[in-house]
Amino acid sequence: MAKEGHKYIFVLGGVMSGVGKGVVTSSIGLLLQQKGYPVNLVKVDPYLNVDAGTMNPTEHGEVFVLRSGLETDQDMGNYERFLGRDLTNADYMTSGMVYQSVIERERALGYAGKCVEAVPHVRDEIMARMEAAAAHNGSRVSVVEIGGTIGDFQNALFIEAARVLKMKYPDDVLFVIVSYLPTPGTIGEMKTKPTQMAVRDLNSYGVQPDFIIARSKEPVDEKRKEKLSISCNVRKDHIISAPDIASIYEAPINFEKDKLGDALLTALSLPEKRRASLAVWSKFARAVANKKAPVVKVAIVGKYFDTGDFVLSDAYLSVIEALKFSAAKLGLRAQITWVNSKELEKGGAKTLSVLKGFDGILVPGGFGESGIEGKIKAIQFAREQKIPYFGLCYGMQLMVIEYARHVLGLKDANTAEIKKNAKDLIVDVMLEQKKHLADNKYGGTMRLGVYPAHLKKGTIARAAYKNELVEERHRHRYEINNAYVASLEAAGLVFSGTSPDRSLMEIAELPKTVHPFMLGTQFHPELQARPLDPHPLFTEFLRAASPKKKKQ
Ligand code: GLN
Repeated sequence: MAKEGHKYIFVLGGVMSGVGKGVVTSSIGLLLQQKGYPVNLVKVDPYLNVDAGTMNPTEHGEVFVLRSGLETDQDMGNYERFLGRDLTNADYMTSGMVYQSVIERERALGYAGKCVEAVPHVRDEIMARMEAAAAHNGSRVSVVEIGGTIGDFQNALFIEAARVLKMKYPDDVLFVIVSYLPTPGTIGEMKTKPTQMAVRDLNSYGVQPDFIIARSKEPVDEKRKEKLSISCNVRKDHIISAPDIASIYEAPINFEKDKLGDALLTALSLPEKRRASLAVWSKFARAVANKKAPVVKVAIVGKYFDTGDFVLSDAYLSVIEALKFSAAKLGLRAQITWVNSKELEKGGAKTLSVLKGFDGILVPGGFGESGIEGKIKAIQFAREQKIPYFGLCYGMQLMVIEYARHVLGLKDANTAEIKKNAKDLIVDVMLEQKKHLADNKYGGTMRLGVYPAHLKKGTIARAAYKNELVEERHRHRYEINNAYVASLEAAGLVFSGTSPDRSLMEIAELPKTVHPFMLGTQFHPELQARPLDPHPLFTEFLRAASPKKKKQ
């Protein structure tokens, strides 16, 4: 059970999705943390998947892996980045998880012969999880983001759980609605009606919002605040204008200016323990937004971004952010260009010319066959043209395959993921994964979460981390085949990071004497890059790619 007087702030979305509930949740977390309160952030995803691991990243965005190995929604990544700390399994729930627990309990006669129903049993399971998250983290305030929009069928039980939690702890629960105010081009006037309707919808659940975060293109003026206040029954000083901003990292700074943190604490009857100091954060936010910083041009060669006529980069969110943080640290601006690996596969040398002019090339994680040969072409190009290269997970496996094909001369080098009967399986399925695949057990069965890696002296990796033993997050089924390690090393490739027992290759690199930066990791360093603590390998990659560096 949560401690007496634990506070809950529920963040709900009105009108439409995609207007920044996650950023509001993260910003509230950062502000309260800065004001001296330990905070945990909880994401509720209404879908029936038990975790986010089985979802297609093109549709759902990046799968973010917690330290524990739980595969979650990308919002959890934003939460960790804003709070600057790791979150736990207790901080994430899906309808699938909730129903699974209820059904398993029912099968074990855990409901003592009762008819098991959505209300009360599923709702109570949700409440128990919310309270467990509060207790587990030793936090004082939980900020809980309920996915989807008010009025959806799927999230109704979560709102119901929040309502009953408020009944149980009337002084300790707040509701914040993040709503959109459109300005239709033909009228040219900002409209409050959709938000009024969303609040009325929420009222029909028995929930009255305490705060409205009014998202819009331009700031919301006094007149519209008054209108919203009267019609939605919310104090005017609890209506916070949140116009579009250049970078999400400015959000907490703007909210602090509008005294959102103070207003939340007052509403929760919590005294401010200290003034929020956002000096360091603001310096970082300024560096990220600095348009005058020298540009470092990075090509990300991936495949999860074609949805209809739109290019979506959500599948690589943590990679983009990790690049931003390291660039800001180096006083650079990372300019990212998306290169579709499926396009690179099509033609010869001419197609590859799209890769010319970049300061660095990065191949992120991925699965399956499509676009693979395109990625290998890009890697060969980076190696031969001596363009700094950074490979993440699949990007490391393919870097080693490229080396085997073109340096060792093993033309049929491949990964068992694509060609099981290839002559040279440079990348093979991990032993413990064979059974999962044979049994069609795909959910939550990869090698997931944090594992240690030992770093070899005198390598780029060791110098970057300034550490002998590091811990990084993983998500893979395949690994470098140890039968080829000796011949790859004899041909010049260095395995600079391995599992402590040396059985699993964690980092491959080329020595600085032959290439400015050619390095790949079996793990996902992007998952642990933080705004105020950029990841050393991303920083080294960008340092090598920096245009200034090349002139020297
Ligand atoms: N598909 C590869 C594997 O399962 C790489 C995974 C990844 O890039 N996350 O090993």
